[in-house]
Amino acid sequence: MIPAPESTTTDTSDKTPALEVEDLHKYFGDQEVLKGISFTAHQGDVISILGSSGSGKSTLLRCLNLLEKPSRGQLHLAGEKLELKTGRSGDLEAVKRQQLEAFRARMGFVFQNFNLWPHLSLLDNVALAPAQVLGKSKKQAREEAAALLEKVGLGGKKDTYPLQLSGGQQQRVAIARTLAMEPKLLLFDEPTSALDPELVNEVLGVMRGLAKEGRTMLIVTHEMRFARDVSSQVMFLHQGRIEEMASPEEFFTNPRSTRCREFLSSHL
Ligand code: ADP
Ligand code: MG
Repeated sequence: MIPAPESTTTDTSDKTPALEVEDLHKYFGDQEVLKGISFTAHQGDVISILGSSGSGKSTLLRCLNLLEKPSRGQLHLAGEKLELKTGRSGDLEAVKRQQLEAFRARMGFVFQNFNLWPHLSLLDNVALAPAQVLGKSKKQAREEAAALLEKVGLGGKKDTYPLQLSGGQQQRVAIARTLAMEPKLLLFDEPTSALDPELVNEVLGVMRGLAKEGRTMLIVTHEMRFARDVSSQVMFLHQGRIEEMASPEEFFTNPRSTRCREFLSSHL
C-alpha cells in the first residue's frame, strides 16, 4: 500500500483519551441490550470488539456514534463531555442537537454494506461531503479525494462508478470517503462480512495501514487473525457486558473466562 501523506497522519502526542465511555446502557423497550459498558480508548488505540451474534456489538458502536440514543451513561470524546442523562420518556433531553452533530462529525463509521452513491463517480463519492459539510472548496475536496483514493489503492479508478467495482473495492472507497471527513475516531462494524472471502484481505490491508498510521479505531470483526495482529486491546462482549478486555496476547493465548475460551475455540 502507498504510505500516507504526512498531513493525514494522526497526531498521537495528545494524551487526552480519544474516547471514554462510562456506564453506557441501552434499552430497546424492556430489553436491556447494553448493561453498563465502560472503557477508554487512547489516541492510536485499535480496539477489536468480539462476541457472539446478538451480544450488543453493533448497538455499542451505534450508541457511540449516536445513531442510536443511549439510554444512560457518559461519553467523553477527546475530553469533550456528553452526558447522556435521559428523562423518563427515554429521550435525550439533556443533549442539544448541535452538540450531537458535533459529536457525530468526529467519528467516521464504516458499515458492512458500503452504501456508496451509485450515480456518482468514485471521486465524487469521496469529495461530495467534504465540500458540502466541511465547507471545503470543490477543488480542494477533489484533490484530497484523489489522494485518498490513491491511498486505498484505487487511484486509477477515480472516474469509474461504484457498481463497476468489486465489493472489496467498494469497501475501500467507503473507507476513503470516511477518511475524507477527517474523523478523530474510526468505527467499523464488520467491514468485511459482506465480502467474498478472496476480497477480505484487500480491505483488511487498508485497515492495517490506518492502524499503523496511529489512527484510533474500534472494529467489530470476526477476523481473528487480523484482531490478533492489529489490536492494542480486545474487547469481548457477552449479553451486553464486557466479559473480558485484554491485550491480544493475553486474550488469544490465555483468556480468563470459560465463555471466551469457548468463543475462541469455535472461531479459530
Ligand atoms: P450484535 O451486533 O452483537 O450481533 P446487536 O447489537 O445487533 O448485536 O443486537 C443486540 C440485541 O439488541 C439483539 O438482541 C437485537 O435483537 C437487539 N436489537 C438491536 N437493534 C435493535 C432495534 N433497533 N430494536 C430492537 N432490538 C434491537
Ligand atoms: Mg452486529
